[in-house]
Amino acid sequence: KEQLLAHHAAIVTGASSGIGLAVAEALAAAGAAVVVNYRSDGDRADALVERIVGDNGRAIAVQADVSDEADVARLFDVAAEAFGRIDVLVSNSGVQKDAAVADMSLADWNTVIDVNLTGQFLCAREAVRRFRVQPCKGRPARSAGTIIAMSSVHEIIPWAGHINYAAAKGGTRMLTRSLAQEVAADSIRVNAIAPGAIRTPINKDAWDSDAALEKLLRLIPYGRIGEPEDVARAAVWLASDQADYVTGTTLFVDGGMSLYPEFRDNG
Ligand code: NAD
Repeated sequence: KEQLLAHHAAIVTGASSGIGLAVAEALAAAGAAVVVNYRSDGDRADALVERIVGDNGRAIAVQADVSDEADVARLFDVAAEAFGRIDVLVSNSGVQKDAAVADMSLADWNTVIDVNLTGQFLCAREAVRRFRVQPCKGRPARSAGTIIAMSSVHEIIPWAGHINYAAAKGGTRMLTRSLAQEVAADSIRVNAIAPGAIRTPINKDAWDSDAALEKLLRLIPYGRIGEPEDVARAAVWLASDQADYVTGTTLFVDGGMSLYPEFRDNG
């Protein structure tokens, strides 16, 4: 039986750690050729590529800053050169620069918007340009290409002390929906994944002590922290033709975090 993503080539941004790493691994395990984008930790990206290739997969590592226009163009050039085409973009890179509003510097505001929102725009624009012109051959193509934006439950849940991050994720929600509407006629699907609390370096303080974890679990009806693989499985499905009629939506992978858990005990 053919693998779910056989004949697909995918770019995963920020793939040298956390959710991006798990997504890259899962796409490769499903048969995709994967471009492992990283910003600065080339060793970890190389190690992931080695692992994928060791498992008979196809992967390359490419350095690029997703908030830099020229870097993003080069990322797609190198990807197209390596694998002949791009079918899937998983726009996963993200940063947090937390501060109460009165203490938030313009630099910390700008960095988060630049990486988490403008980075989504630059990568999506490049993907659409290429999806539109590349020939639909070599796979039973239903879509001309598909984009998955890594959003967050904070695309809908307000987050005090993190207004830059929540603003960027709220922006990602409407970027996803508006872009999906714009390019659907080109057979391009655009969706987002909204992870809840996933065990990665970005939120280490929220899970690496018993006290912090206990506090976190009160926000998660399903009763456990999420693992990067929980998100990766959703990404594989959204990237595949199994999700062919799915566009313009956000898939919440959050153990119920967005279900107003404080109302459980409020009846
Ligand atoms: P992470 O810190 O492990 O991953 C973020 C990745 O983005 C890193 O590999 C980093 O190098 C990369 N990156 C940062 N700036 C970049 C740039 N300018 N160009 C290219 N890459 C850049 O954390 P993670 O949890 O795996 O985060 C991945 C995505 O998931 C982020 O968009 C984050 O907002 C989102 N998310 C995470 C959680 C969670 O609980 N961990 C929840 C919701 C959403």
